[in-house]
Amino acid sequence: MPIVVQKYGGSSLADADSIKRVAQRITETKKAGNDVVVAVSAMGDSTDELLDLATEVSPLPPARELDMLMTAGERISMALVAMAISDLGYTARSFTGSQAGVITTAVHGNAKIIDVTPGRITEAIGKGHIVIVAGFQGVSQDTKEITTLGRGGTDTTAVALAAALGAQVCEIYTDVDGVFTADPRIVPAARKIHRISNEEMLELAASGSKVLHLRSVEYARRFDMPIHVRSSFSHKEGTIVTDQPAPEGEPVEAPIIAGVAHDRSEAKITVVGVPDTTGKAAQIFTALAVAEINIDMIVQNVSATETGLTDISFTLPKTHGTTAMQTLQRISGTVGFTGLLYDDQIGKLSLVGAGMRSNPGVSATFFRALAETEVNIEMISTSEIRISVITRADRLDEAARAVHTAFGLDSTDPGGEAVVYGGTGR
Ligand code: ADP
Ligand code: ASP
Ligand code: MG
Repeated sequence: MPIVVQKYGGSSLADADSIKRVAQRITETKKAGNDVVVAVSAMGDSTDELLDLATEVSPLPPARELDMLMTAGERISMALVAMAISDLGYTARSFTGSQAGVITTAVHGNAKIIDVTPGRITEAIGKGHIVIVAGFQGVSQDTKEITTLGRGGTDTTAVALAAALGAQVCEIYTDVDGVFTADPRIVPAARKIHRISNEEMLELAASGSKVLHLRSVEYARRFDMPIHVRSSFSHKEGTIVTDQPAPEGEPVEAPIIAGVAHDRSEAKITVVGVPDTTGKAAQIFTALAVAEINIDMIVQNVSATETGLTDISFTLPKTHGTTAMQTLQRISGTVGFTGLLYDDQIGKLSLVGAGMRSNPGVSATFFRALAETEVNIEMISTSEIRISVITRADRLDEAARAVHTAFGLDSTDPGGEAVVYGGTGR
């Protein structure tokens, strides 16, 4: 029998009725003659609620215990989904990540999958059961501790299972009809993309489009595993993420721009009055690297000749903000800078498209759209297929809509507004 791997996100499993609806969908797939393996996320916003609870108990909780806590969310939904399936007359077996053979690195909160040894899954499938796996978690090969894969990581669990089990495609069920040209929550005119390359999807995910976890796309590209992103609330065809050529007869879309992504998860730190001499940037960024802080954009201004001092600004995940500031305060004497500024009211807007490589004028149109909306640009960075800018957080949504329109991405379907079926967008 063919194996189908499906993933249901938290927004599709928000309450008892949603769980029953998902169970129905899973058993329909089984009834159609497939073996079914399902990765599930924690119900609704329960991962965020667990995190809030942890910080109420302790402002900086130990990473090992945080992983123990967070993996509980997926354990709840896997058991409930299995129960709902048995109520429909089918047998299901739920497994934690560790039981399912998801082997990871040892980094708590951001572990990488090294291998999947799905012995217990194949055994359960062999006995005719539907298999439900807790997403977003695994067990470290070295420390034997329970780990999590980073927020949104159930997508990666699903793709890793699909690759290990030799599925044809990995189906990701969520609360929108697929991958759109922008987040439908802030750009209602966004258009559904039928087919997108791994390269463009990677860049969108890396720029903040949380519809897919970045590492799930990296994994899918490595194993040449197509991903079908679709809604658990409708039966519409979604988006295929693949580098395989479109089947004959299907129109080949080759737009210059794939889409617009926004990100509110970053903060900006400015190191003020850095002596403009060799080695200062190296000292600053080495200290941050040792503290395992991820840096995104960096800008260094030319020093004012009278002072010989310069400012260095960079962006980083807000979650690393406190550690980064503490690290920099510790080295202020050795580096010799005069001050530090922390700003968490920024937003990042990115335009992604493989066609940028060969089409001049893309940045001009991008910056003009921002100027006409009176959005000030604070930082700029580019890759071959992406332009990103930092703006004030409260101007981000408007900026995204303006850029979306400027590149002709708005849907032209009459009444064709993108539907958001569930979720809180948290
Ligand atoms: P799940 O709970 O199913 O994992 P997520 O909230 O992680 O769902 O991801 C789905 C959400 O991603 C959508 O509700 C939407 O707000 C957001 N999103 C951001 N960018 C995009 C995009 N380009 N296309 C579709 N959805 C997007
Ligand atoms: N429950 C986890 C999270 O909220 C993993 C996931 O949903 O993919 O990040
Ligand atoms: Mg998700």
